[in-house]
Amino acid sequence: MLDDRTSITCPACGETVQAPVYTSVNVTANPAQKRGVLDGELFTCTCPICGQETRLVYPFLYHDMQKRVMLYFCPEGFDVDLEELNEQMEYDSPFGGSGYTLRNCVSYEMLLEKIRIFDMELDDRVVELCKLVLMDELAEEHPELDVKRALIDVRGEQIYIAFIDVDGDVFAIELPDDVYNRIYDLYFDVVEEYTDEGFALIDSDWAVQTVRYAMMG
Ligand SMILES: [Zn+2]
Repeated sequence: MLDDRTSITCPACGETVQAPVYTSVNVTANPAQKRGVLDGELFTCTCPICGQETRLVYPFLYHDMQKRVMLYFCPEGFDVDLEELNEQMEYDSPFGGSGYTLRNCVSYEMLLEKIRIFDMELDDRVVELCKLVLMDELAEEHPELDVKRALIDVRGEQIYIAFIDVDGDVFAIELPDDVYNRIYDLYFDVVEEYTDEGFALIDSDWAVQTVRYAMMG
């Protein structure tokens, strides 16, 4: 949905450029907009005078009706009242409480990863636990690597976990089905118990805390 327009000053030539603002993107109704989210084109504004491209960053809602997923992209520095948004979902929205998966995404990288995960019909919480387990295994096998984070990557039908070390080097492995299925079976109840209502933030910190709670019983 095109909600508004904003004017920006082109950083290259100083021209005032009108840019569309999308605060809500329904990718089921507008598959082209989904491509625009994935490649960032939807939020890129091109100056008509000099051709300079400017990337606009602001909060928006990504809504996939088919997969029953809503992702709220809220970048750092934007003050958004998530509680109010959660309440709206609960009371005013036809989507609240109807088996929708709601996630809060604090970076664009995280948003894109969640889209990949849900497009592949995976549970992002189980994926975060898989990352922890596999990161431990990787640390044992390759003590020389200092892995800082892990991201899901999809090439064709194959799902990879890309481990990124302190220098930014990437070490990718296939996500093993058996690991995913085992963790799903073992931890699904725990994962449900420790998922916040509303737009939950599911990241590596959440995974570490959930494992800690689970071990404390
Ligand atoms: Zn310009």
